[in-house]
Amino acid sequence: MAVPTHTWSTTHTAAYNQAAGVVRRAAATMRAHGALRYQCPLTRSFVLITDDATLAGLARPQSRVHCVDCGETHLLTRDPA
Ligand SMILES: [Zn+2]
Repeated sequence: MAVPTHTWSTTHTAAYNQAAGVVRRAAATMRAHGALRYQCPLTRSFVLITDDATLAGLARPQSRVHCVDCGETHLLTRDPA
């Protein structure tokens, strides 16, 4: 009986990180007009979130966001105001 071997080799490495619970933290700061900004822990680029639907899902003190810069999921933490 043949065992399929393609599954692991075709899975993106980001999936392993999430499966193992390795989610990098990123400190978010409030910007004008309710926007949020964070620095991607992988690329060190600043990402500005202005989309209302995305912002509504980030209302909690710690929430996960799909990073548009590196494609991984980060845990956004709010800087104490
Ligand atoms: Zn990122």
